[in-house]
Amino acid sequence: MKTIERKKLLYKSGLGFYCINHVLGCAHGCLYPCYAYMMARHHGRVANRAQWREPRLVGNALVLLQKELARRKNKPDEVHLCLTTDPFMQGYPEVTALSLRIVALLNAHGIAVSLLTKGLLPADLANRESYCADNTCGISLVSLNERFRKCWEPYAAPYRRRIEALRRLHRGGRRTLVHIEPYPTPNLVEQDLTELLDAVAFVDEIYFSGWNYNRAVRKCGDPAAFYREQAALVRRFCRRHGIRCSADA
Ligand code: SF4
Repeated sequence: MKTIERKKLLYKSGLGFYCINHVLGCAHGCLYPCYAYMMARHHGRVANRAQWREPRLVGNALVLLQKELARRKNKPDEVHLCLTTDPFMQGYPEVTALSLRIVALLNAHGIAVSLLTKGLLPADLANRESYCADNTCGISLVSLNERFRKCWEPYAAPYRRRIEALRRLHRGGRRTLVHIEPYPTPNLVEQDLTELLDAVAFVDEIYFSGWNYNRAVRKCGDPAAFYREQAALVRRFCRRHGIRCSADA
C-alpha cells in the first residue's frame, strides 16, 4: 500500500471536535457525492475519483501521534476517527491495523475514541485490555436496500454485515452509534425508516440528517416536509427505546 508523510496528525476540526485522518483517500468511493473527496480534489490532493479510491496510508502516523500526545498539556477527552476517510475500509487490512493501533495509543493516554465506518467494525474493539477507554463504535447506515448501496456506496460493506459487526460490539459492552446520514428521499429509494430503526434498536445513540448536498432530493416534491416527518419519527422511536437522539429536520 502506498504511503504519504504528514507534518501533523491530531487536529481540531471546523465542527469543534478533535479528529485524526491517517489515510488520504477512501476505497469506498461513495457517490452522494463524498464531501471529503470533493475537498481533496479541490485542494489538489487527488486528481480524480480513481486516485481517491487508491488510499494512501500516513506512514509516520504513529510516530507523529506519539510526539503530539507527549507535547500536549491539555489532552482532548475524545478523538474522532475519521472525518475525511474511513478507518475500517473494505479490502485494506493495513488501514484497519493502523486504525486499531491509533485507538490503542489514544486509549493508553486516557483519551476515548469515537469511530465511524461504512466498513466492518473489528470484534477486537470489545477487548478492554487493548482498548481501555470508553470508546464509541459507530456505523453509517442510510438504508437496508442492497440495490441502493450498490448504486451509492458501491465498495462499502453490505448493510446487514455492518449491523452485525456493531451488534457484536454492543454485546461486548461497547457504546454504539448509528449515523443515518445522508438519508435518501423516496425518489431515490422507496423504504420504510421504521424497518431500518428496528434493525438497530439495540444502539445507544442515533444521529439522523437529510441528504442536503445533492439536487436529486428536490425531485421528491417537498423534501423539507419529508425530512421533518422522518426526523419526528426518529425522535419518537428513540424516546420509546431510551436511545440518545440527534435528529435534524
Ligand atoms: S466512506 Fe466516507 S470518506 Fe469514504 S468515500 Fe464514503 S463518504 Fe467518502
